[in-house]
Amino acid sequence: MNHRPDSDGYEDGNALAGPLSEIFAVDLTSALGRCANCGVTEPVARLHVYTRAPGLVARCPHCAHVTLRMVRSPDDAWLDMSGTVALRIPLTSG
Ligand SMILES: [Zn+2]
Repeated sequence: MNHRPDSDGYEDGNALAGPLSEIFAVDLTSALGRCANCGVTEPVARLHVYTRAPGLVARCPHCAHVTLRMVRSPDDAWLDMSGTVALRIPLTSG
């Protein structure tokens, strides 16, 4: 999938695959997340990810609410998912 920055300065949620793989054993880009602001459920891969902020900032593609923030230090990862109500994570393939 293409996750290069577009003219609005964001990438799609596939930009989160590498950083999140350090924390979770499953690929979260295929998980379904529900936005805490508008209630729409979308795959994480469809989020708008801003990579030029301190850390990564992912916004809902429908209402632009911040759904996920991740900051990495040399020893820790900070993950704020307060903008996501629920995350449905597929655990089997196919
Ligand atoms: Zn939303």
